[in-house]
Amino acid sequence: MSKEKQRREALIYHAKPQPGKIKIVPTKPYSTQRDLALAYSPGVAEPCLEIAKDKDNAYKYTSKGNLVAIISNGTAVLGLGNIGPEASKPVMEGKGLLFKIFADIDGIDIEVDTEDVDKFIETVKMIAPTFGGINLEDIKAPEAFEIERRLKEELDIPVMHDDQHGTAIISAAALLNALEIAKKKIEEVRIVISGAGAAAVSCTKLYKAFGAKAENIVMLDSKGVIRKDADNLSPAKKEFATDRKIDTLDEAMVNADVFIGLSIANVVTPEMLLSMAKSPIVFAMANPDPEIAYDLAVATRKDIIMATGRSDHPNQVNNVLGFPFIFRGALDVRATAINEAMKMAAVKALANLTKQPVPEQVNIAYGETRLTFGREYIIPKPFDQRLIYEVPPAVAKAAIESGVAKAPIQDWDKYREELML
Ligand code: NAP
Ligand code: MG
Repeated sequence: MSKEKQRREALIYHAKPQPGKIKIVPTKPYSTQRDLALAYSPGVAEPCLEIAKDKDNAYKYTSKGNLVAIISNGTAVLGLGNIGPEASKPVMEGKGLLFKIFADIDGIDIEVDTEDVDKFIETVKMIAPTFGGINLEDIKAPEAFEIERRLKEELDIPVMHDDQHGTAIISAAALLNALEIAKKKIEEVRIVISGAGAAAVSCTKLYKAFGAKAENIVMLDSKGVIRKDADNLSPAKKEFATDRKIDTLDEAMVNADVFIGLSIANVVTPEMLLSMAKSPIVFAMANPDPEIAYDLAVATRKDIIMATGRSDHPNQVNNVLGFPFIFRGALDVRATAINEAMKMAAVKALANLTKQPVPEQVNIAYGETRLTFGREYIIPKPFDQRLIYEVPPAVAKAAIESGVAKAPIQDWDKYREELML
């Protein structure tokens, strides 16, 4: 399809039959006078009073427990940059659509007109009583780090900045599986990370939580290898600076086992791939164009295990595998946070699911004949119906075990059955 045709199709999709991608519908009867007397005055006063006595009753009598705010200020929208709050709205509405179709969560988009960190935090804190959880989205680094950190500290509902943690969770699951296929240990592999932004930093932190060793990691930003002996490093970059006396990606790639790209298109050359260790793992996730094109990479190394952010190649690292199911699990136990244990549980659930036999429905949905765990299938596909009953229970269990669940699940079989509906 031509670019122009794609553009027109996307605009019509958003404009017709009614503008936007999401709407609100009532969940209670509303056809009689009696219904309305219950829904609104005078009946509505009763739940108000119950909630006034105990705020937690909001989970019993309102939509709070299944309502997630998708909040952005439009400062880092997709790869489009700082395009402002209104222009970010289609992305946030899209996220609402995905929350709904994959996990039956009501996601409401909220676009905030400020780039000021304190004002943004204050705004989110003031509207937080409405929601069961908060998905921060497309906020530029480094502001996003502080915004998320402080909101997590100051609110008692789950808060997650998906641009950081979504990618980290999905790519970590893919990495664990790729390492298994390559017969390598995460504690031993040499990892090169191209990019030192929001996504790269949170990915690297999570890989470390799974055992990757700081001394085996080389991170690069737009100026090259981040070295310990450099001046004026930000705290995030300092954490991943290397002792090695090298400066370029060419040097870093020699004998590396893993390349993680969260930077810009086409910074990796075939020569660099050829200099990597055997069964190199290459996750070139810059969007829309990866650090090296898929076809070029697989033509250069037959033993490569490759993933990208794109849907037109195998192994798409796609956030939609994470946030709907992570919030589902967190909401279902009324978690007060989304913590490391919950993220790691999601990673393991995704990695394990990939190794189970793939249902025929999934093959059909993707026009495949036989998806099986291997180089070209290291991560589940988004339209895999099993995600909804595999990932949320793992996240919920981790929330309970790590002590952040206010409403622990008792009957797991029943819970899984409810998820399947
Ligand atoms: P970001 O916060 O703006 O960070 C971009 C980073 O890339 C910065 O650290 C920048 O260096 C670095 N960079 C720029 N040119 C570079 C070069 N030639 N070599 C090495 N590093 C270079 O953006 P982000 O949110 O982390 O996203 C980064 C990329 O990852 C984007 O392409 C985005 O689309 C992609 N991404 C993909 C997925 C996915 O596939 N699921 C998810 C999230 C992000 P400085 O620090 O020096 O500016
Ligand atoms: Mg985003």
